[in-house]
Amino acid sequence: MNVSDSPLQALPAKEKSCDVLVIGAGIVGVAIALRLQQEGRKVLLVDRERVAAQASRVNAGALAFSDILPLASPGILRKAPKWLLDPLGPLAIRPGYLLRIAPWLFRFWRASRHDRVQASTAAQAALMDLSAIETPLMLTSADAGHMLRSDGVLHLYESETELSASQPGWQARADHGIAFTHLHNAQAISELQPGLSPTLVAATFVPGWKTVSDPLQVAEALARQFELLGGRIRRADVLALAPGADGVTVQLRDGLPQVARRVVVAAGAWSHRIARTIEDRIPLETERGYNTTLPVGAFDLKRQLTFGGHGFVVTPLACGVRVGGAVEFAGLDAPPNFARAAMLLAKAKHFMPGLRTEGGSEWMGFRPSLPDTLPAIGRATVDERVVYAFGHGHLGLTQAAATARLVADILSGRPPPLDLAPFRPQRFASTRTNRAN
Ligand SMILES: Cc1cc2nc3c(=O)[nH]c(=O)nc-3n(C[C@H](O)[C@H](O)[C@H](O)COP(=O)(O)OP(=O)(O)OC[C@H]3O[C@@H](n4cnc5c(N)ncnc54)[C@H](O)[C@@H]3O)c2cc1C
Repeated sequence: MNVSDSPLQALPAKEKSCDVLVIGAGIVGVAIALRLQQEGRKVLLVDRERVAAQASRVNAGALAFSDILPLASPGILRKAPKWLLDPLGPLAIRPGYLLRIAPWLFRFWRASRHDRVQASTAAQAALMDLSAIETPLMLTSADAGHMLRSDGVLHLYESETELSASQPGWQARADHGIAFTHLHNAQAISELQPGLSPTLVAATFVPGWKTVSDPLQVAEALARQFELLGGRIRRADVLALAPGADGVTVQLRDGLPQVARRVVVAAGAWSHRIARTIEDRIPLETERGYNTTLPVGAFDLKRQLTFGGHGFVVTPLACGVRVGGAVEFAGLDAPPNFARAAMLLAKAKHFMPGLRTEGGSEWMGFRPSLPDTLPAIGRATVDERVVYAFGHGHLGLTQAAATARLVADILSGRPPPLDLAPFRPQRFASTRTNRAN
C-alpha cells in the first residue's frame, strides 16, 4: 500500500493512550516514530495531512554529510546583495515580507560572526558524523537499504576563481576529515559527468556524499515499518499543548484532546506555532524552495550535481531528474511563484545542453530554518516531557536518522553521543530567559 497517498485515519474520540505522541509525519517525525517504536515504546504519530505531505515529499534527495558549514557565513553575506538584485535569482525576499523577517535576518547576521561559524561548523560536523552512521542503519531496518546511493556529488564551478573562493570551506571540511578531490578542467569533469557545458571548468568531487532513490519512498518505507511494528498513524491537526499532572494534553482542531505521557514536536516549518502554546518562542522561519521533476531519461545523469553559484542542484531519482533549489523568504501563507522553478530549469538547460526540459512537474516546499543553520533538538522549557525536533533547514533528510537517535536518547535518559548544547531550542532566548531554564 502507498502509505503516503492513502488518507490517514482520523483520530477516534477514544484513541488508546500512548507512551509517546509524535506531531508531524515528515521525514523527521517518521524517523523518530520508527526509532521509538523499535525501542519498544507505544507511539502514536499524528499529522494533519498524510505521510511526507510537505517539505519531505519532493526534495533533492541528498544525504549531504559533507555539508557542515552554516549558511550564515561571511561568504553568503558577500554573495547575498548580488543575488537579491535578481528578482528570480537564487535568493529572494518578497517585498511585503521584509519587515516580518528582519529579526530573523538580524540573528542570521549575528550567527555569521567568525567564532560562531566555527562553533556551528563543529556542531554540524558532529551531527553529520552521527547521521552518516545512523542513516544506513535506519534504512536497512526499514527494508529500504536498496534506496541508498553512494555515487558522491560533483560541485561545479564556472571559473578557477569561483573554486578558489570556496577554498576556506574546503579547508574546514578537510579539518573535519571529509575527503574530496578538486578537478581543474572540463575533460576531468566529463569523466565523472559527460554532457556538461564547457563553461564549467572546475569541480569538486565528494565521494562520501550520498543520495536516496526517492525521498518520498524513503518516508513511506519508514512509515510502513513503523506500522508493521505496531505504531499508529492518525490524522489530526494539533492546536496546542497543555502539560498537566497526568501527562501532556494535545488539543486538536477536531476531536477530543489526546493525553500522552510524552510529546515530540516534529512539525517542520509549523513547529514554532505549537511551541508557542507552551511559551517557547523559537525564531523558526521558512526558506521556501522550488524544483521541477522531469521524466526518467531527461538526461543521462551519473550522480547528483550542484551549481553553488546559481543555488540549484540536479538529482537522478527513480522517478526522474529533479532540478531545483533556491531560497525564497515569503512565509508560510503566500502562494508559490513557480516562475522560480522555471528559471532554475532554464539555468540547468544552459549548463546541461542535452537536458530535455518538457513534461516536468513543479513543486514548492517549506524548509524549516533557524538562523544558525542548526536544528532545535531538546526539551521544552516548561515541561521536560515535551521534546522538540525541528529546524533542519536544507538538511532534514540528511539528519533525520541522527535526530531520531538523539530524541530517543533524550526520552530514555541515555547520554547522547554528542554535545546537545549547540542544538538547545532555547539558545535564541534572551539571557534572562536562558538563566530561568
Ligand atoms: C527544494 C528543497 C530541496 C531540499 N533538498 C534536500 C536534500 O537534498 N537533502 C536534505 O537533507 N534536505 C533537503 N531539503 C530539506 C528537507 O526537505 C527538510 O529539511 C525536511 O523535509 C524537513 O522535514 P520535517 O519532517 O521537519 O518537516 P516536513 O516534511 O515539512 O513535515 C512536517 C509535517 O508536520 C505536519 N504538521 C505541521 N503542523 C501540524 C499540526 N499543527 N498538526 C499536525 N501536523 C502538523 C505537516 O503536515 C507535515 O507533514 C530540501 C527542501 C526543499 C524545499
